[in-house]
Amino acid sequence: MRFRSWAAWRDEFSGNLAVFCSDERFVAATLEFLRRELNMERCDLMVVAGGPAFIAQDEPNLMKRLKLLVNAHRLQRIALITHADCGYYKHRYGNEAAQKQREELLAAMQRLRQQLSGVEVRGFWALVEGGEVVFEELAGEE
Ligand SMILES: [Zn+2]
Repeated sequence: MRFRSWAAWRDEFSGNLAVFCSDERFVAATLEFLRRELNMERCDLMVVAGGPAFIAQDEPNLMKRLKLLVNAHRLQRIALITHADCGYYKHRYGNEAAQKQREELLAAMQRLRQQLSGVEVRGFWALVEGGEVVFEELAGEE
């Protein structure tokens, strides 16, 4: 078969990157959040189980890929998003999942801010409230 997309092709990079968990329950809301709230109509995506966990854990292969994007696509803004009820964190940390997740999001923000000067790094927590997904910013240290 052969498929022709309706999406318009644009041969340019926005300088945006979003890192979030692959959990499908949050994907549509996250893409909407990026577009409507952060004005990231276009952005590179790194979507993996646990989202920004790999940055906090300094996982070498994924960090290498992230840095490749930073340079090749001249990234200027990075949004890190973690979410409530994350299976990756529950599996890894059990009852301490939420606490560890918060710590690791802050650690990920700090690591990127230290390593990537001039790149804006923001961190967000997605949660479900009354059947709707809400995003809250975590300030972290500059
Ligand atoms: Zn998750």
